[in-house]
Parts: sequence; structure tokens; C-alpha cells
Amino acid sequence: MPDTFKAILVSRDEDKKQSVAVTELSEADLMEGDVTVAVEATTVNYKDGLAITGKAPVVRRWPLVPGIDFAGTVLSSDHADWRKGDHVILNGWGVGETHYGAYAERARVKGDWLVPLPESITAHDAMAVGTAGYTAMLSVMALERHGIVPQRGPVIVTGAAGGVGSVAVAILSKLGYHVIASTGRASEEAYLRDLGAAEIIARDELTDPAKPLAKERWAGGVDAVGSTTLANVLSMTAYGGAVAACGLAGGMDLPSSVAPFILRGVSLLGIDSVMAPKEVRLDAWRRIGRDLDLAKLKALSTTIGFDDIIGAATDIVDGKIRGRVVVDM
Ligand code: NDP
Repeated sequence: MPDTFKAILVSRDEDKKQSVAVTELSEADLMEGDVTVAVEATTVNYKDGLAITGKAPVVRRWPLVPGIDFAGTVLSSDHADWRKGDHVILNGWGVGETHYGAYAERARVKGDWLVPLPESITAHDAMAVGTAGYTAMLSVMALERHGIVPQRGPVIVTGAAGGVGSVAVAILSKLGYHVIASTGRASEEAYLRDLGAAEIIARDELTDPAKPLAKERWAGGVDAVGSTTLANVLSMTAYGGAVAACGLAGGMDLPSSVAPFILRGVSLLGIDSVMAPKEVRLDAWRRIGRDLDLAKLKALSTTIGFDDIIGAATDIVDGKIRGRVVVDM
């Protein structure tokens, strides 16, 4: 392997103005860690879009290689669990936020952060899932733990044509749920039906200020949008239902009331992928290997090259990306 490799670097000047550039790094530039990985595939998540555009304070040390997840092969390891040649996945743990991340041909991280690539999928597939898809699986697992099984009634997925949403639709439909997909892009109806959505509703149905309680429409849901959308989803959740809140694409606020919780026994389930313990991650990736149809995964992902990352980062923040974007390194 050559001594230097390509990387994207986010920097900040004295006036705290952020800039992004493609540069060359060497292994000596990488941060501390006990495993060095050749990055084979990565992806562009909403959070990566925020990091590169600087639209939200995702990056918390400068300069920084962004990119919150990757799949690759171990080049060297001082960690007991990993050897040269092992195929691994990394999601979260502050990588791409405070630790040099995925948008470089090599990454050095803590071995404790890595999980093995499931045998049934490739590095490319793993990044078609990526943090967004793994978060969708964490959300589905939370609904299951709360007893939201297909027999309880329909489930809603908001931000359905995005990354988290697309994977959630595909997993829930494979598991037998009647999935209602909420999207702001009517043009994506055929795409969402192909992924398994039984009904499509317009995003606008969930954007007016929420009533404390509205007509019961679903047993639960996966919400990637937050704000008024989540407030409406909660007010329309049936007695004893549950909603997994995992995103903020529509805003960080939650203009809701306690009515769904105290009058209908509705539960709000918080989902965090970044610091999720290792056993939860292993379980989620095992479930992805089992419960996500690989043909659907191909349908919901597109592939770009390293040089397209910065453009895709802008597009995802502008809500222009459909499904998942895989970066082939
Ligand atoms: P995407 O941009 O791929 O998807 C978000 C989708 O939300 C869009 O495609 C769009 O769907 C919808 N949307 C966008 N803007 C608005 C808006 N203003 N109002 C209503 N709907 C909107 O992002 P990801 O799927 O990668 O991530 C989704 C969210 O989940 C993000 O907020 C991300 O930060 C969060 N996330 C959280 C994680 C966690 O650990 N909790 C991990 C991963 C992601 P459509 O066009 O169908 O309407």
C-alpha cells in the first residue's frame, strides 16, 4: 500500500469558519487506536451531511476526517479480538465527530468499537445498511420489545424515502407489518411500495400543530423526523402503542402534550445508535443479516465514489437523497 492516502478534512479558521478539502494523509496523521482498518465502503448519512456542511455542530474537533461509519478489512491490530484480514464494521462512538472517521482510505480506531461483518453480507451491503439502517433496526427491535407485533395493527414510518425510513419500511414489511409510509415526495410512491409499504400518506398530513389526541390510526411507528411530525404521530397512536423516535430531519423540538401518554398509555421509545452497547449492536447486525431482504437493499441504495462525497453531503441535508448512498472506496 502507498504511504499516503486520500482523505476529506474539515478545518476551521481563526474566525471559526469551517472549510472542507480533499487532502493526502499518512498513517502517522491518524488518531490513537489499537486497530488500523483499510476502509472499503462508507456511506453518507444525514449526520455526515450536517458535519460537512457545518449546518449543525456535529464536528467537535478540528481538523477532522468526517464519516460516521465504515466497513473494511483490518490491516493491523493490537486488540485481542481482531487480526489482520478480519472484516469489520464501525458505527458511531464519536467517529466522524471527535475521532478521525470514514472519509479516508484508512482509519485507526479502538477495537472495542468494531463489530464483525455478518457472513451473509459484503462490506458494500453493510454500508447500504449503514448507521441509518442499523438505527432503523434498533427502532424495530424497540417496538418489538414493547409488544408492537404485526397483529396489533398498522405502523407508520416517517421520512420514509430517506435512509432510516427506507430500511425501516423494508424490514417492517418483511416482518409482516402493514406499513404506512409518510413522505414529502409523492414521486417516490412506487419506490416505497416496492420496498413493501402498504399505504403512502403525504408528509403534510402530519405537519399542522398536533391536537392532544386525534383519531387512532396506527399501533406504533418509527419516526425519523421529530418536531410537529412526531407530535402528530403520537396523537394518532392507538391505545397502548409505541413510537420509536430516532431522528430530527424536521426539527429538534417536540411540540406535543402529555395526552397520548397519560390518556392512551402511549410510549415514546428513544433510539440512540452512537453509544449503543456492543451486545445491542451485535444483535442488531445479526437481525439485519436475517430480516433485511438483500434485493430490497440493492433497490434502496445507490453507489458513488470518494470524489462525490461532498456533493452527496449537501444533497442529503437538502432532502434530495433517496434511500441510502454507498461510497465505494
Ligand atoms: P435522510 O435525509 O436520508 O432522511 C430523512 C428524511 O426525512 C428525508 O428523506 C425526508 O423524507 C424527511 N424530511 C427531511 N426534511 C424534512 C422536513 N423538514 N420535514 C419533514 N420531513 C423531512 O436522513 P437519514 O435517514 O440518514 O436520517 C434520518 C434522521 O435520523 C436524521 O435526523 C438523522 O440525524 C437521524 N439519525 C439518528 C440516529 C440515532 O442514533 N438516533 C442514527 C442515524 C440517523 P421524505 O422525502 O420521504 O419525506
